[in-house]
Amino acid sequence: MDQIVVLGAGVGGAMSANMLRRRLDSSDAEITIVDKSTQHAYQPSYYLLPFGYMEPEDQFRDVSEVMQSGVEFLQGEVTGVDPDAKTVQLADDELSYDYLVVSLGHRLAAEATPGMMEGWEDTDSVFPFYYFDAAMEMREALQDFDGGTFVVSVPDTPIKCGGAPLKMTMLAEDYFQRQGIRDDVDVVMTKGGDAVFGVSPYREKLEEIWSDRDIEFRGGFTVSEVDPDEQVIHSEDGETQEYDFYAPVPPQYGQPALTDNSPLTEGDDEYDGEYVTVDKHTLQHTEYEDVFALGDAGNTPNAKTAAAARKQAHVVVDNLESHMEGRPQTAKYKGYAACPLLTKKGKAMVAEFDYEESISAPVESRMNWIMDINILPSFYWNAWLHGYDPLP
Ligand SMILES: Cc1cc2nc3c(=O)[nH]c(=O)nc-3n(C[C@H](O)[C@H](O)[C@H](O)COP(=O)(O)OP(=O)(O)OC[C@H]3O[C@@H](n4cnc5c(N)ncnc54)[C@H](O)[C@@H]3O)c2cc1C
Repeated sequence: MDQIVVLGAGVGGAMSANMLRRRLDSSDAEITIVDKSTQHAYQPSYYLLPFGYMEPEDQFRDVSEVMQSGVEFLQGEVTGVDPDAKTVQLADDELSYDYLVVSLGHRLAAEATPGMMEGWEDTDSVFPFYYFDAAMEMREALQDFDGGTFVVSVPDTPIKCGGAPLKMTMLAEDYFQRQGIRDDVDVVMTKGGDAVFGVSPYREKLEEIWSDRDIEFRGGFTVSEVDPDEQVIHSEDGETQEYDFYAPVPPQYGQPALTDNSPLTEGDDEYDGEYVTVDKHTLQHTEYEDVFALGDAGNTPNAKTAAAARKQAHVVVDNLESHMEGRPQTAKYKGYAACPLLTKKGKAMVAEFDYEESISAPVESRMNWIMDINILPSFYWNAWLHGYDPLP
């Protein structure tokens, strides 16, 4: 009987394990999924919670509720992987595998920017909203905010959902309009790069929207330090930006269990060894053929999103099954990612693209908002996570 171990019960891991369970006969393969948390979180809600556009109690499910019967859930912290011995180290256990699927996501690291954690913990003006708790604290603080400079910043590390800081900026600007305080607020987003969004034609459309709505974009500004006492952020080039309310995206890295305690991330220049090195089309590890990786943890050069992990799950499942049966791997991931860019309450533009080209038109519509807020979460919880995907 083959042992398949899936690391991480987030989007990529849960989907892959559930799809594999339905594909493979239970007398041929045992599937175990490991996560340190017993809860799966719907992370795309984190830029909506501060404005009350989604509610916290709807954003979590028990992992055991999400998994198909026949997938064993093991709660435990992965501390390392030895792909030569084919073992996974846990904080207090060890697992052997025949095939491994890695989907441990990104590590959020607010502490990597001096002053960011202190600002969050010790003041009422810094909210790294990629953490659920910060998003909820921001919700409370926004009710007391009556004017000043509102700043969002983007770090120079890869981040999950590159659109999230843009959505936070635009939704905040619109929220201030609705609160009747827009004339008293300067809205600013800083970023190391010189483009508000990397992919055309969405970039041009966003530039138009930001210009119309007087949102300032400070490109070439990578935050090096936060001074929470003076309410100032410093850039690597010695520039400064004052804030009264600050919603930074924290720096993000690979998981230490993989970067420090496995060879799975070695040999990757572009990402500095932070991510699991896989073939960008087959998602099979470049050195260890029994290992596949997907989602934010992989070094594929796509936009890290749940939408991408969803597409990748199909490829991993197809190729892993082929590999197990000694057939050629024919499934190819083409870099698909999608990001619903919520431009204001009731309006959104979907940026959908792959390695080669943009797919959707750069159009703001009410239908896009309804799809993202009212329809997608239900698909996410009731179909995709369970491995049912009518539009693979
Ligand atoms: C604010 C925000 C907004 C977003 N908006 C969107 C959006 O609009 N659209 C979109 O498509 N995507 C969005 N995303 C991105 C999306 O949530 C991620 O890309 C997606 O969750 C990646 O899936 P994954 O399986 O790679 O990682 P995750 O879903 O993060 O899962 C990783 C899992 O690994 C577990 N884990 C980590 N380390 C260990 C360890 N050492 N031991 C055991 N378990 C461990 C974690 O507990 C977690 O369950 C957003 C993310 C954030 C934070």
